[in-house]
Amino acid sequence: MIYLDASATTAVRREVLEAMWPYFSGDFGNPSSHHELGESAAVAVKDARATVADLFGGRPSEIVFTSGGTESDNLAIKGMALANPRGRHLIISAVEHEAVRESCAYLERFHRFETTVVGVDGLGIVDADEVAALLRPDTTLVSIMLANNEVGAVQPVREIASLTHSVGAVMHTDAVQGAAWIDLRSLGADAISISGHKLGAPKGIGALYLRRRVALEPLLHGGGQERDRRSGTENVAGIVGLAAAIRLSESTRVADADRVTALRDDFITEVLDTVAGSQLTGPRQGRLASNASFCFPGTSGESILLELGRRGVVCSAGSACAVGSDEPSHVLLAMGIDREVAQTAVRFSMDSTITAEQLREAARHLAGASATVGTLASSLFG
Ligand code: PLP
Repeated sequence: MIYLDASATTAVRREVLEAMWPYFSGDFGNPSSHHELGESAAVAVKDARATVADLFGGRPSEIVFTSGGTESDNLAIKGMALANPRGRHLIISAVEHEAVRESCAYLERFHRFETTVVGVDGLGIVDADEVAALLRPDTTLVSIMLANNEVGAVQPVREIASLTHSVGAVMHTDAVQGAAWIDLRSLGADAISISGHKLGAPKGIGALYLRRRVALEPLLHGGGQERDRRSGTENVAGIVGLAAAIRLSESTRVADADRVTALRDDFITEVLDTVAGSQLTGPRQGRLASNASFCFPGTSGESILLELGRRGVVCSAGSACAVGSDEPSHVLLAMGIDREVAQTAVRFSMDSTITAEQLREAARHLAGASATVGTLASSLFG
């Protein structure tokens, strides 16, 4: 099987599993317990927190462990908006993940917030000046993702963070997709979400970087873990796994990003050359290393997916994050792509284990799959 769905999830790396194992068995203590087992778990969490803090160029006290990207986004948006007395105006982009969009919708419904959605250009990129023009005296929070999960567009987060700060509001960025490839140390955001399962750690663990002294209303109340920002017994093994995955990916991140970008670029060229009518979605430059996404007008994304599946290539139609949705992607629609064309989207996403041979084979299978689907479509509707 050729796995090209790393943006949906990645396999847990063996080294990560090995690092986690003791915290399920011998060292299974609760970090809040005052005995040897508890202390050993607390030390493991402390060490992991230092590693995760380093990913952001932050301090250990600025890390809140969560259950994943969705929780980090919810905590950042609801938590910062509700704790910040400036006003009730939020700004997000039109291509945010549902975790961001629905958190804002919740604030609108139950807390009388107002959300302004900033559009994107045809490549899926937000214009920082447009964000600046939307900032108001009552703007509390701006949330713009680092890299889009469907088309890989990388956003000008640094610039937007500094504009946001110039009016005294706070900035969150969802770095769930970007964290494996982009340096998070100098983004300038007050809050940054990451998710373990996009980085070779298990599902169900994530983190939120929260700049010190930024006020946060917790979503989970209880025993006061995570400095009162997220109650609940810590997922010790998951936290250790997240840190182990980060250590592994950080040690090779720059080289991996260069190598995968080059392979991905060849793959894009090959697909555009060999699949008649194929269109790249998102930018050619300034794109997440791992992402190659296309529309195949005149076909159906789901049918291509099925055909590819038969040929042993696993990928996804748009994004795998919304459960059972047949609607065309809000990301592609925001980019100005027709509804009909948006229904033909297929996303290929890779992690650092990808090889040139696998991508060549995938491109060959894609040409075959799209020809089969195209012939079928024209014999049915032509
Ligand atoms: N944000 C983005 C950009 C994502 O792509 C995803 C999942 O794919 C999430 C948030 C949600 O992360 P999780 O699956 O860890 O809840």
